[in-house]
Amino acid sequence: MERCRSPLNPDCGNWDIALYIFFEGKRLPVCRKCWRQMAETDLEWGESIPRARVRRLVEEAKRAILEKARGEALKEVAERLERGLGHQRG
Ligand SMILES: [Zn+2]
Repeated sequence: MERCRSPLNPDCGNWDIALYIFFEGKRLPVCRKCWRQMAETDLEWGESIPRARVRRLVEEAKRAILEKARGEALKEVAERLERGLGHQRG
C-alpha cells in the first residue's frame, strides 16, 4: 500500500489511493479526495505535458485551492460573528 502524494497536497498521506499520475517523471499515488480536488482544477496530467507547464499549473491550482479555503474560513468566521451578535441581542 502507498500513501497519497498529490503534488497539490504533499502532506495529505491518505491511504485511499484512487489513481496514479505522472508528475516530474515520477508516478505518484493520489487519493480520492485529492483527485477530486485536481478534477476541480484545469490540470492535465501525463508524461507528454512539459514539466514546466505542469509545474506552473500546479502552482496556479494550489493558489486557487488556498484562496477557496481562505474564502471558506472567512465565511465561517463571519457566520460565527453573526451567531455571537445574535446571542448578545437575544
Ligand atoms: Zn490525498
